[in-house]
Amino acid sequence: MCGIVAYVGPRDAQPILLDALSRLEYRGYDSAGLAILNGKGIEVRKKSGRIQELAKICLAEPVKGRLGISHTRWATHGAATDKNAHPHLDASGRLALVHNGVIENYLELKTKLMETGHIFLSETDTEILAHLVGEAFSSSREKGDARLVEAVRSAVQQIQGTLGIAVIHADMPGLIVGARRGSPLVIGVGEGENFLASDTQALAPYTNRVVILQDKEIVSLRADRFDVASPLGIRENVKVEEIEDGVAASDKGVHQHFMLKEIFEQPSAIQNAFRGRLDADGATAKLGGLNMSPQELRQIDRICVLGCGTALHAGMVGKYLIETLAKIPVETQHSSEFRYGDSPVSGRTLFFAVSQSGETADTLGALREARRRGFTVLGICNNVASTIARESDGGVYMHAGPEIGVAATKSFTSQLVIFTLIGLLLGRLRFLSAAHGRELLQAMENLPAQITQCLAYSDAIREIAQRYAHASSMLFLGRLANFPIALEGALKVKEITYIHAEGYPSAELKHGVIALIDKETPTVLLATQDGVYDKNLGNLQEIKARSGPIIAVAHDDDKKICTLADTVLKVPRTHELLQPILNIVPLQLLAYHIGVALGRDVDKPRNLAKSVTVE
Ligand code: GLU
Repeated sequence: MCGIVAYVGPRDAQPILLDALSRLEYRGYDSAGLAILNGKGIEVRKKSGRIQELAKICLAEPVKGRLGISHTRWATHGAATDKNAHPHLDASGRLALVHNGVIENYLELKTKLMETGHIFLSETDTEILAHLVGEAFSSSREKGDARLVEAVRSAVQQIQGTLGIAVIHADMPGLIVGARRGSPLVIGVGEGENFLASDTQALAPYTNRVVILQDKEIVSLRADRFDVASPLGIRENVKVEEIEDGVAASDKGVHQHFMLKEIFEQPSAIQNAFRGRLDADGATAKLGGLNMSPQELRQIDRICVLGCGTALHAGMVGKYLIETLAKIPVETQHSSEFRYGDSPVSGRTLFFAVSQSGETADTLGALREARRRGFTVLGICNNVASTIARESDGGVYMHAGPEIGVAATKSFTSQLVIFTLIGLLLGRLRFLSAAHGRELLQAMENLPAQITQCLAYSDAIREIAQRYAHASSMLFLGRLANFPIALEGALKVKEITYIHAEGYPSAELKHGVIALIDKETPTVLLATQDGVYDKNLGNLQEIKARSGPIIAVAHDDDKKICTLADTVLKVPRTHELLQPILNIVPLQLLAYHIGVALGRDVDKPRNLAKSVTVE
């Protein structure tokens, strides 16, 4: 994952790098570092831990210079130590490099380099790349900027794996070279200054004019110009795009954490997901971005949803929605499994690639694999300028606004709304009646107010959370569309609280999971009144019979459940197909409040990063 920022211009680089880097901390926070050309050579500062740790050492001993590169790391190779922090230098100490990605053949390359006398100071794969570029640079006969550009090109050719890199050399003052293969990189175009970053969010206060580098491109960047070269030659007429300003989004407002802010933003986030997309006359949804005609949509006879983590859970709810509304069989696949598997896919399958960031490496790989096989792939992303959004044949944007908290919340409910719209559209193109379509549309319009009702229980859920915060294990059970909600509830608990949690279809209980039940292990049971309510109550009794504490998610007017469960998380009643959108909200709040009660860093839980750009 990792975040990269580079700057060249008339201003002092250090404060700009530190500030822009802090906007990328969601991409990784194991260590941070920067390297600046100080007029004599390269000066490096790096530190394990958060960017504020780097800022402290930079403030104590500032580096002066107008060109620099920086990095916030999510470790793949080597522990989160000072030494493994980026930037890494080459053998001469005159070249510095930051890297986002994984070098798969690094051991082989490292062995070769060591045989020729190279000494490595870190355990990272990245340091190998710095040495390779350095080697190519010293033996190059090229003149001018081409010397570093060609050195990068030749080193990159030896690498198997993924990379987004920024490189500087003390002998090439004023020049930054960037390259990407797999990992994202954007150029920020300023007035007499230029930037390079992993995403546009880093650049928000500096410029809204960007060039999204395409895969395998190399850029040479100076304060007053930049050149982009693809393997096919120089990219002529590079288009500078203007993006919306995202500065305000990085503000927590009245909330203690981004995660809580984003949970509370769900009424407006889901409204944004359906705004302008409800067609009351046709009792259907309008999704122009799919780039498919009604005739083409009618041809589909299967759907495959690709995703990881929360996005996959959204796809699993999507399966129930689409199968119920449109009667099209849907399968969901972990992106990582699909991309390397042999799974047979029938000819008229439509793919959806779901990723909040639009940069999830596994989902991007799966998307490319599906497109390579000739399938149409539609993206469901939040980040408009993202690689998945650009490489898809069409898609639906979430418009949820930036999600900073590492645990996905509002992006999940937005994805559920989008799958409802897709199900409705496909259903109405087949046999779903206008009356059923209209019922769903009306229920959707009530959702924002109903989510607000769920949020009103936040304080009550905080007290409940304190009661269960000391559990060492939790179970989450649900049936049908609430099964993925159980998975998602368990995932939130794992991510934010570090308590072991598992989600299962309720009926699986007796096939093994029941062995875990005891009076210390709470079970969260999704038990809103639907076609399988009585079955869920049966499971509740089985758990009670074994002294397991029960937290039920139930309708606010369900009196019966209050007499059976130890604790009830109340939700309003909606259309049965939309109920999962409400049911997840108390589970997000439960995980959040347990995390806070345990003193966890809920916005940046250990070992995680928001945008998973390594596979
Ligand atoms: N592989 C590099 C490291 O471990 C970069 C990791 C990443 O991009 O997440 O330092």
